[in-house]
Amino acid sequence: MTDTTAPDDAPRCSYCGEPFPTERLRALHRGLEHHERLDDDEREAFEDAYHDESEDLRSFRLRALAVLVALYFGFLMTYAVVAV
Ligand SMILES: [Zn+2]
Repeated sequence: MTDTTAPDDAPRCSYCGEPFPTERLRALHRGLEHHERLDDDEREAFEDAYHDESEDLRSFRLRALAVLVALYFGFLMTYAVVAV
């Protein structure tokens, strides 16, 4: 029973009834779990959601890399100041 805490108006998968917090997550679920049964609109929604998700992931990776680089140079400068 995974849906006991989901609100009644949560978007639900039309194939298995599973609730999702956002339309985008539902579209991704449908594309991944029910790909062979999708109609053209649902497939298009999945491709849009997949594209958005890839963009978000790419921007997250860039930000994570920037934080790591900043941390690395922060420690390097601290080391240079403290160790000399
Ligand atoms: Zn489903």
